[in-house]
Amino acid sequence: MPHRLLRGVAVSPGVAVGPALVVRWEVPPVPERTVPPAEVARELERLREALAWARERSERMRERAEVRAGPDEARIFDAQLMMLQDVDLIGGAERLIRENRFAAERAFSLKVLQWRGLWSGQDNATLRDRLADLADVELRVLGRLLGLPERDVLDARPESPVIIVARDLTPSLTLQMDRSAVLGIACEGGTRTSHAAILAHSLGIPAVMAAEGVLELVASGDRLVVDGWAGTVQVRPTGAEVAAAETRDQRRREFDRELESGAGEPSATTDGVAMRIRANLDLPEELEAARRSGAEGVGLMRTEFLVVGRSRMPTEDEQAALYRRIGEAFGGHDVVIRTYDIGGDKFPAAFRTPPEANPFLGWRAIRVCLDEPEIFRTQIRAILRAAAHAPLKLMIPLVTRVEEVEATREIVEKEARALHRAGIEAAASVPVGVMVETPAAAVLADRFAEVADFLSVGSNDLTQYTLAVDRSNPRMAGRFDPHHPAVLRLLRDIQAAGAAAGREVSLCGEMASDPVSAYLLVGLGYRVLSVASPSLPVVKWLMRRISASEAATCASDALEARTAADAVACTRAALTARVDLRLLDPSARLPGRGRRGTLHP
Ligand code: PEP
Ligand code: MG
Repeated sequence: MPHRLLRGVAVSPGVAVGPALVVRWEVPPVPERTVPPAEVARELERLREALAWARERSERMRERAEVRAGPDEARIFDAQLMMLQDVDLIGGAERLIRENRFAAERAFSLKVLQWRGLWSGQDNATLRDRLADLADVELRVLGRLLGLPERDVLDARPESPVIIVARDLTPSLTLQMDRSAVLGIACEGGTRTSHAAILAHSLGIPAVMAAEGVLELVASGDRLVVDGWAGTVQVRPTGAEVAAAETRDQRRREFDRELESGAGEPSATTDGVAMRIRANLDLPEELEAARRSGAEGVGLMRTEFLVVGRSRMPTEDEQAALYRRIGEAFGGHDVVIRTYDIGGDKFPAAFRTPPEANPFLGWRAIRVCLDEPEIFRTQIRAILRAAAHAPLKLMIPLVTRVEEVEATREIVEKEARALHRAGIEAAASVPVGVMVETPAAAVLADRFAEVADFLSVGSNDLTQYTLAVDRSNPRMAGRFDPHHPAVLRLLRDIQAAGAAAGREVSLCGEMASDPVSAYLLVGLGYRVLSVASPSLPVVKWLMRRISASEAATCASDALEARTAADAVACTRAALTARVDLRLLDPSARLPGRGRRGTLHP
């Protein structure tokens, strides 16, 4: 009998037990039809009508999402509305009708195929996530052009609730699911940040994505246990397995309630060391969730969403208003705005840059900003203006040379003077911090502490560059480990250098969002951590249960470890004395929920 326990990615917590309903949806076949010249105008009209209809449907989906899931989730459908108005998509399809005399459905599907090819070939997880949105748009427009009935995920309405098993789900299909009819979701594909995952989470439907083999192993009617905490799908479980899953579910739910009720409490360790746990924000929409989860400020506001996938750069006014809104939202706590980390795989559409052989070692982040002073100046002016109203700090990414910090400071000072001269309300200056995320910055942390107002460790890139392991290469995932002894030593040294210079040293990479690593970081001397919003409550909860001096002893042991695995094992062992590690399983928290708003380059 094939293995009955499948492992995937937990995207929406909870345990569902019930019969499977295997759903197979696909893009309808499109006939290869051309039309005589006299019918070209009619095909253009058909395309326009179908697009208008699809837009209207997406609007309705948006309204439905707002009611059923919330305003953030409703914005998922904005992405689809944008696609349905995209000049490249529509203009390209129209051209195929006009120039090649293709029927409207053929022209549209070819254009979508072209987009799909472009997106799936990209080394960019956000774009790959957006493929399901594109499929939604494609299904709607083609359905209309081909006169097909509208799809419902539960076409054959089952008598009793089911667990949906599918290759992948589009946002619309997910939104149609009703908790009374759908107990859980298990998908062969999908990712943690796909819109289907986000919607399942908001609708409260336990879901597991990327459960490879589920379609092959499961037939409609098979009993399943979908464990949206652990990210597993158990096929044809025994009674004991069902009982164990239900007990797990109950414990996790109790724990979740405990986390929620403690989110607003300050985080001091049992031996009285004050910790500050801030939020990482990828998008302004995450602001509310961060506040609700008890964020003590923002340790990293990524600003790439403002430019990536957009056809124009944001204005100074737009940015100033946004930074002010975020800065004012955290009751006087610091909010750190990171200047554009563009380059690598993230470029604004307006930028025409020649491809680089090694983009992550190329024109990226502060290098781009200093070479494109207009872009940088605008962002800095906006931060200065917003800083007149809120405790904002500015932070520059991918620093390797002290000159980069000095040049940034010069621009900050110059722009502050210019704003003052022009009588525009702005702060006289802002603290300038350095992201320590290259070995160069880590080794020279003492120098950087002299020229910067604060340091913040970007452990994602620091790990990537120290270990020479591409952070976005799934094949390297097993080798990407911030607990590698080389990284741990750098983390220790950065903290010591910052402390010796009297500078705040925080850490804002993903490792701070993992409770076991967060414990180790406390032991290494870090007192400010910036974490993904979904991890805020658990990290804060943990801080109130650990002793900083015990953590320090643990960190000395971890620093002695020969391997990353040994360092993790000894940290887990030390932590077991304080908390039930099974509760700290990182699954089912959704780090960095989606980087919506980025459509296509
Ligand atoms: C990091 O590198 O750790 C970091 C926080 O920045 P980003 O993930 O945006 O590169
Ligand atoms: Mg980084």
